[in-house]
Amino acid sequence: MKIAILPGDGIGPEIMAEAVKVLQALDLRFEMETAPVGGAAYEASGHPLPEATLRLAQQADAILFGAVGDWKYDKLERHLRPEQAILGLRKHLGLFANFRPAICYEQLVGASSLKPELVAGLDILIIRELTGDIYFGQPRGRRSAPDGAFAGAEEAFDTMRYTRPEIERIARVAFEAARKRGKKVTSVDKANVLETFQFWKDVVTEVHQDYPDVTLEHMYVDNAAMQLVKAPKNFDVLVTGNMFGDILSDEASMLTGSIGMLPSASLNDKGQGLYEPSHGSAPDIAGKGIANPLATILSAAMMLRFSLAQPAAAERIEAAVKQVLAQGLRTADIWSEGTTRVGTREMGDAVIKALQGV
Ligand code: NAD
Repeated sequence: MKIAILPGDGIGPEIMAEAVKVLQALDLRFEMETAPVGGAAYEASGHPLPEATLRLAQQADAILFGAVGDWKYDKLERHLRPEQAILGLRKHLGLFANFRPAICYEQLVGASSLKPELVAGLDILIIRELTGDIYFGQPRGRRSAPDGAFAGAEEAFDTMRYTRPEIERIARVAFEAARKRGKKVTSVDKANVLETFQFWKDVVTEVHQDYPDVTLEHMYVDNAAMQLVKAPKNFDVLVTGNMFGDILSDEASMLTGSIGMLPSASLNDKGQGLYEPSHGSAPDIAGKGIANPLATILSAAMMLRFSLAQPAAAERIEAAVKQVLAQGLRTADIWSEGTTRVGTREMGDAVIKALQGV
């Protein structure tokens, strides 16, 4: 088994070093190979996703990705910006299913901006379609408005579109995932306004025929945004399109108190996946040794479960993370009165120590 290690920019290398240490401590046999990506790759070779990095990612069984981006690259042409690396990897590897669990750890209930009783025990999974929707639909661009009240004025436009196979495959992923959890799928759409999402709703309903053991409910995206802060525990698996998923998954991540705790996975139809923390490169704290490495360590656990067929090792990592939280160890982003503040490296070391006991 081969893992491509792509640390990236900002806090990426710091948090990745801890995840790699944890993987090495497991005594499993896999090869790890590191390559630059994002701004670091642009500095080294003039492109955020160099050929060699893409080749490594394509050959690997799984990719562990840190984070990319820095404000200093904001003036670069769009195709050279660090964030293009992640879009390129998704496209080249066909990573269409994005898993973003939002789990509220018992010890961190107080870190959420919601009342503890609303989030205690929260364990929901957002599945976002990643390769279609208005983010990639053609045509798009700027032009002179061809009609309407402002005909002739300068305008910009994008195209929202989904094909049947794209909706069917993400719906299947959601129903399969729900089967292993609470057996409920909420499909989020805007069928009352958008043709694309009426079609989405129709196709998800059809696919549901194959999963009679799973409950399906449909919800408009505006209501879903409201329900996520009103009664988040009513959800089990949410499935939605690229844009709604982008927004709702960030909203859900904040229910748990810290983005520094949340892993994510993006999978293709061969089970190959890219695993990364849900947060960005946090340039504001890069190099200070204070970033929370747990989202990356938990992403490595998801990688072991989904792409490397090592569920027991994944559970060990997750149990070790719970144990360090129970010991009261906290990085700055999740620190509260009465707990012990630790840095990035100390947190990684504590997880490794806890692994010995689980
Ligand atoms: P961010 O997630 O990097 O940071 C938001 C806030 O959360 C910051 O205050 C940061 O210090 C804090 N934070 C994030 N991760 C943390 C961690 N592990 N531990 C402690 N605190 C943490 O989002 P941003 O500031 O909007 O973006 C910064 C850069 O990251 C931008 O260039 C953006 O484009 C990029 N970005 C990359 C990805 C990715 O690589 N997939 C995702 C989102 C943003």
